[in-house]
Amino acid sequence: MPRAVVFKGAGQPLELVPFVVPEPQGKELLVRVTCCTLCRSDLYTYSGRRTEPTPTVLGHEIVGQIAAFGPDAPHVDAEGNAVEVGSRVTWAVAVGCGSCFFCHDDLPQKCERPHKYGHHRVALDRPLGGGLSEFVLLVPNTFWLRVPDEVPDAVAAPANCATATVAALLRHAGPIAGRSVLVLGAGVLGVTACAMAHAAGAKAVMVSDPAAASRERAVKFGATHTFPAETSDLATGVRDATHGRGADIVLELAGAAATVQTAFTLTRTGGTVVLAGTVAPVGTVPFDPENAVRRMLTIRGVHNYHPRDLVTALKFLAGAGRGFPWRGLVVEEYPLEQTEQAFTAAQGQPGLRVAVLPGE
Ligand SMILES: [Zn+2]
Ligand SMILES: [Zn+2]
Repeated sequence: MPRAVVFKGAGQPLELVPFVVPEPQGKELLVRVTCCTLCRSDLYTYSGRRTEPTPTVLGHEIVGQIAAFGPDAPHVDAEGNAVEVGSRVTWAVAVGCGSCFFCHDDLPQKCERPHKYGHHRVALDRPLGGGLSEFVLLVPNTFWLRVPDEVPDAVAAPANCATATVAALLRHAGPIAGRSVLVLGAGVLGVTACAMAHAAGAKAVMVSDPAAASRERAVKFGATHTFPAETSDLATGVRDATHGRGADIVLELAGAAATVQTAFTLTRTGGTVVLAGTVAPVGTVPFDPENAVRRMLTIRGVHNYHPRDLVTALKFLAGAGRGFPWRGLVVEEYPLEQTEQAFTAAQGQPGLRVAVLPGE
């Protein structure tokens, strides 16, 4: 029998639970999971920094192979690419209901009744929905895509969280070509942002992070300038690189109040600040309305992504982004029965990914 790793709450051991492989109904798709990378949000749930309904099967950065089609499931992906049993697929983490206010407003990522893979309560005799399992059952309306052959599993797995989120940030940031971009925080999202901004023709890609190893990694992903975080060196460096004006676009990915403040300070007049890192409470920051008006700042919050951003993400990984060392971001791989060890390893690897390979 296949098995899933069930999470019952922070501090409790993960349980390997056997289950009967379900027969996909209607438009459902049964997927055999080949690779699931552990996202920061999985680590936060595992450690108790964030709570999810339990029991649950964690893991949402997933690549798998189609194992069976429901009788009404299309044999093409959301972009019309033909697929068959064995084709590799990935999918948007959130499935909108298609009928609420936000779904009608083209914000399915803010659906009032969303289904989110790796984030919902499961029945112990049917532990389906997260990537830390040998199978996932895709529900109807899931936005799923065939993974291009040239993108290996370990590179494609983070696409439906990190890469698609960065695609959303840059879409909201506006045109990138010829602009200076400052990325605050060089974790997986940060280096992905460096690569996407570089490939989109940014004239300067500046990045700040307190960790020297993260800054060095960012250079391999297209950063042109790196600075240690939260020091006067950062402000001086950004001003030197931008004729004293500040960056055209600033992306806050560090998720700290002080970094949000830095983002406001280092954006040029008429520039755009995109806030995306503060997904947990961080307190408040002083805000000077006169300053924001006189400097004509655009301040945009972005959370999750639209399915179209996943299309952009996969195209980028298969095309313009192919030359960057994505494979190096996944530093360790574990079989399903060693998922505890995988979590422990991931906690010691900020800015990198650890993978669980349920197919091993
Ligand atoms: Zn994630
Ligand atoms: Zn909805």
